[in-house]
Amino acid sequence: MADLSSLQIALKEREQQSLYRQRQIVASAQGAEIVVDGEQLVNFCSNDYLGLANHPKIVTAFQQAANDYGVGSGASHLVCGHSQLHHQLEEELADFVKRDRALFFSTGYMANIGTINALLGKDDFVYQDKLNHASLLDAGLSSGARFQRFLHNDIKNLETRLDKNVSNDGRKLIVVDGVFSMDGDCAPLNELSAIADKHNAWLMIDDAHGFGVLGEKGAGCSEQFNLDQNQLPILMATLGKGMGSFGAFVAGSETLIEYLIQFARPYIYTTALPPAVAAATLASLQVMRDEPERRQHLHTLIRQFKKNVVASGLKLMPSGSAIQPIVVGDADKALEMSALLREKGFWVAAIRPPTVPANTARLRITLSAAHTEQQVDQLLRALIEVADKVSAA
Ligand SMILES: *Cc1c(COP(=O)(O)O)cnc(C)c1O
Repeated sequence: MADLSSLQIALKEREQQSLYRQRQIVASAQGAEIVVDGEQLVNFCSNDYLGLANHPKIVTAFQQAANDYGVGSGASHLVCGHSQLHHQLEEELADFVKRDRALFFSTGYMANIGTINALLGKDDFVYQDKLNHASLLDAGLSSGARFQRFLHNDIKNLETRLDKNVSNDGRKLIVVDGVFSMDGDCAPLNELSAIADKHNAWLMIDDAHGFGVLGEKGAGCSEQFNLDQNQLPILMATLGKGMGSFGAFVAGSETLIEYLIQFARPYIYTTALPPAVAAATLASLQVMRDEPERRQHLHTLIRQFKKNVVASGLKLMPSGSAIQPIVVGDADKALEMSALLREKGFWVAAIRPPTVPANTARLRITLSAAHTEQQVDQLLRALIEVADKVSAA
């Protein structure tokens, strides 16, 4: 029998630090209300920002495509798995974000690993915001490029680091979350684009939380900050959040996409997603265009939430996105607040280190177009009661 005692020690340690994670079993579709362990809860922790994950038109598109194409794609994209639906989705995505082309990846994690590893090797440099998503950090580390993390949204700090390597002719990539996943704030993309240009570096963003939510038409950060393909040459976004579907894409020039098709290993060496997933995502894009009121309602809820949090004296983060975290600090306290909210019928996840920096455990509240103003008001009232109770204890 293999000796797994060192694993048990690690598990024990996690538990003692209040960092042990447990999965909750969901027995319903995603939506404003969700069934967890037989209990109905108002859900304030999903990334289904536009309430599309269970939209009837999108479900129907998925079913129809499953009838036509079956379930499995049969092979990788480069063998015989690249269906007409995958291809059409790439064309519509590229058109939507105003890029030459887009490439559809199985997951956001794979898109980041695949893209950064294809672009960089050991003679190159990658510059990442300290609060970047784990998949970007993992991608940077595994690429073997020289890795620099700059202070969060701190252009000066980034520039100091770029200046150090000014005479080196390796490739340079600056990569950031468009909207930071645990804080909800945006990267200063116009400044980053200017700095990338000045230092002959490429700029890449991961727009997992901006796509569908930000910008006049919902095209995300590139639309919000008005950055074209030259100013922001590598645009990645995911489809499992605002689009309520699954998968991810990278968009950019013809050259970039052809290069990724040849060299991005997590694109090449994996089975293509089911064509029905592509069909569902095409339907999501259509619903998003046909129903701009979803995004408008989401932004109304965001304003309502922020205004009332400020009035209540709770601490707000500088976020204009659907992610509205309340930083508590202590992991135990965050867990306790999350448990008390659950007793009141709300599901709000406590996010703890190592997902967030030490002593910044938080309630990561996410708003969705599926919520009503009443639900947001009820959450606010519950939050205030729970915060009082925990700080008095
Ligand atoms: C969720 C997320 C990912 C991963 O995307 P998946 O499609 O879920 O693998 C990547 N980057 C960011 C910023 C994310 O929030």
